[in-house]
Amino acid sequence: MHVDLLEDRRDRGKEWGEARLLAFLDRADAMDVEALLEHLRWPSGRRPCVHCGFRRSYRMANAEAARLRFKCARCRKQFTARQGTLLERSNLSTARWLRAMSLYLTAPRGGLAARVRRETAMSYKSAWSVVDRLRDAPEDPILVQVRAILESDPPEGVGALLERSGRD
Ligand SMILES: [Zn+2]
Repeated sequence: MHVDLLEDRRDRGKEWGEARLLAFLDRADAMDVEALLEHLRWPSGRRPCVHCGFRRSYRMANAEAARLRFKCARCRKQFTARQGTLLERSNLSTARWLRAMSLYLTAPRGGLAARVRRETAMSYKSAWSVVDRLRDAPEDPILVQVRAILESDPPEGVGALLERSGRD
């Protein structure tokens, strides 16, 4: 009985976190989604260089697309929040990946790829590939943080970001 209650509470937490994340993805523009990705990629707020590991990097100024480019203070190479994650070698949008991750973590395993395809409007081939890649990378840094959102324990800044866009 006690275990049942705990399970029940966990499930409800999941629904609440999932609802917040999906509502955010429904209304967010691309830049909001990239801001979320950045928080998920570097939950501590520090952005070590993905090339050499140096602890300091700069956000590149100017051009809108550059908002998500960073430059290492030591090796001077550039990187994005996608690098070092499952999203790195994918052409799918960040919003699609985050939706697919949410489904992957909450939906029943049976028919998962079909559901991902339907709810993210990606091709069957992409949906299968995404589900396979998620299955092979349980410790992907973005997937780990999406799991934290669903468990109502989002990294600092993410809760506020999800709420903030809700008031528009
Ligand atoms: Zn570097």
